[in-house]
Amino acid sequence: RQEQYRKLRDKPAVTKDGVPVDLYMNAGLLVDLPNMTGAGAKGIGLFRTELQFMVAASFPRMREQEKVYRQVLDSAAEMPVTFRSLDVGGDKVLAFLRMAAEENPAMGWRAIRLGLDRPGLLRTQMRALLHAAAGRSLRLMFPMITDVFEFEEAKDLFMREVAHLERHGYEKPKKIHLGAMLEVPSLLFQLDALLDRADFISIGTNDLHQFMMACDRGNTRLSGRYSSLTPSFLRALKSIIDKGLEKGVPVTVCGELAGRATGAMALLAIGYRRLSMAPSSVGPVKAMLLELPLEQLEAEFAEALAKAVHADEIKQFLQDFAERYD
Ligand code: PEP
Ligand code: MG
Repeated sequence: RQEQYRKLRDKPAVTKDGVPVDLYMNAGLLVDLPNMTGAGAKGIGLFRTELQFMVAASFPRMREQEKVYRQVLDSAAEMPVTFRSLDVGGDKVLAFLRMAAEENPAMGWRAIRLGLDRPGLLRTQMRALLHAAAGRSLRLMFPMITDVFEFEEAKDLFMREVAHLERHGYEKPKKIHLGAMLEVPSLLFQLDALLDRADFISIGTNDLHQFMMACDRGNTRLSGRYSSLTPSFLRALKSIIDKGLEKGVPVTVCGELAGRATGAMALLAIGYRRLSMAPSSVGPVKAMLLELPLEQLEAEFAEALAKAVHADEIKQFLQDFAERYD
């Protein structure tokens, strides 16, 4: 199987009926980087910057951060890399950052909330990214955006760092794209405003599912209870890509759903064309889509989703479809 996926590495990711799909990989450490070309991904769709912080004994200085970001961009060569600003707090603990115990850490002082309250941390990271990306493209997204004002504030901070760079005569990135992660359901009802402000959106289905279902993503007692293929969740995901297409704003899915064969199939069926996943999933997902008559799937899936009540119906449909066209 591994051998088979290696053969697919240089094959473009195009469905059987000729629809191109962008497959990216998720990464977080320098050791992940050699996987990119090995897996045949088009770039990095999610670089989890907090990992450098989680393995460090003290806060990484600006130059240390910059060094890592530069290595990431170097190894990606001309391929796009989407960095995510620090997503700490909650279950992602930093040994050197004192935080009070919280009753609901997943819903607590974390990610962009912490970043906006401690702008020094966030601005240091932004500065490191700006230096590392001098003369090339910089794509940065902010985790756990819950309300549009948080995206605006993060963007303001970022623009101040850009101004700082200019004032001091440093070279700027050639292009800058700022995006929001969509992983809190409130944004579903602020999509227009968000898409008017963000250059791109990336959906963290792990957290979006957790918060939509009010279901702790790490609780093993609950892990089988609410499928990610449940019609309510898929309809929510469909409403996001529909709006993204209408507004012309690229929307990626970077949660684990995108890396599972049936999950990726469902996402393609509702309109997604950009998926980011663990390196080991790129081969299997590519193998799946090369055999997929997507237009046919889209038509049949729209009907199935419209009348489905249970996740099982969706799973059954996808299985049957895959067998029919195998
Ligand atoms: C997600 O929430 O789906 C996601 C991609 O981010 P993380 O798993 O790092 O929270
Ligand atoms: Mg998340």
